[in-house]
Amino acid sequence: MTPSPMNCQQWLDLLESFLDDELSSEIRHEFEQHTHGCSCCGHYLESYRLTIRLTRQLKREALPSSIAQRMREKFLQAIDREFHSREKEA
Ligand SMILES: [Zn+2]
Repeated sequence: MTPSPMNCQQWLDLLESFLDDELSSEIRHEFEQHTHGCSCCGHYLESYRLTIRLTRQLKREALPSSIAQRMREKFLQAIDREFHSREKEA
């Protein structure tokens, strides 16, 4: 799978809009390409969706920002580690 030119940070910035179905079809396509080509973001999207679903089962509200924030931080750390391990391999 060819990785999309979109990077993980850009992907993360688009995540909310993607879930709200606010992306243009072109951007959405790029977003989906990155999701499939990048295991880091693919897993993040999965766990993000799961968290949203679980949260909505408890109460019909948006994901609490504290949880969203924590997931975001964890994810950024994961990306960071990923980049560092790639540097070592190179
Ligand atoms: Zn990514």
